[in-house]
Amino acid sequence: MSDIAERLNQIRERISTACTRAGRDASSVELVAVSKTKPVEVIQEAVDAGQLLFGENRVQEVLLKRPLLPSKLRWHLIGPLQSNKVRKILPQVEMIEAVDSLDIAKDINRIGAELGLHPKVLLEINVAVESSKHGFGATQIREQLEELYGLDRLYIQGLMCIPPFDLTPEQSRKYFVQLRTLRDELEKIGGAPLPVLSMGMSHDFEVAIEEGATLVRVGTAIFGGR
Ligand SMILES: *Cc1c(COP(=O)(O)O)cnc(C)c1O
Repeated sequence: MSDIAERLNQIRERISTACTRAGRDASSVELVAVSKTKPVEVIQEAVDAGQLLFGENRVQEVLLKRPLLPSKLRWHLIGPLQSNKVRKILPQVEMIEAVDSLDIAKDINRIGAELGLHPKVLLEINVAVESSKHGFGATQIREQLEELYGLDRLYIQGLMCIPPFDLTPEQSRKYFVQLRTLRDELEKIGGAPLPVLSMGMSHDFEVAIEEGATLVRVGTAIFGGR
């Protein structure tokens, strides 16, 4: 078995154990293999090991790699999106995970309509209120939710967050709780389900699962360092 296959098996095992611990069904969590900076040969190894869902943080990498890999793969854009790249990326990915402002949501909505698409998106929340980070603040998302729901091409499926990097998994837990709690509140305010919570990375995905993650974005623990 290749190293990547072995690590993927271990991650799947750990996801399943975390689900059991949290009293959740293992099928309620999906693994996004974060393949940024990794060449297609390496990604193909993960495909051979049964992984079909991949996350990239740059538009350019999706455009380069996707045509060289099997068409059955599903891609999520997990990094910030600039308005001048919306038209290129929308037809290529299953989900835009990091919609971080009303402006970019409007662009995705408008261009989605022009292309005849109904883009699936997640709203990125700046949980730690770091000025260096992208995303909606909690107050801002409450104020802008109605306008976001007015963008009728968008399927707003849930929320995502990236807590500060230098925390232990237990320190990250409060941010995962915060995202879940905010989701519950926004479902009430907006009257629409937000079933997807994208949270948890290589070092803290198990805690994220305990707190309700439905997508975990794991790179280093599968592919090694970048
Ligand atoms: C790189 C990246 C990840 C994966 O991080 P690892 O620590 O390598 O697992 C997850 N989410 C986002 C948004 C990323 O940019």
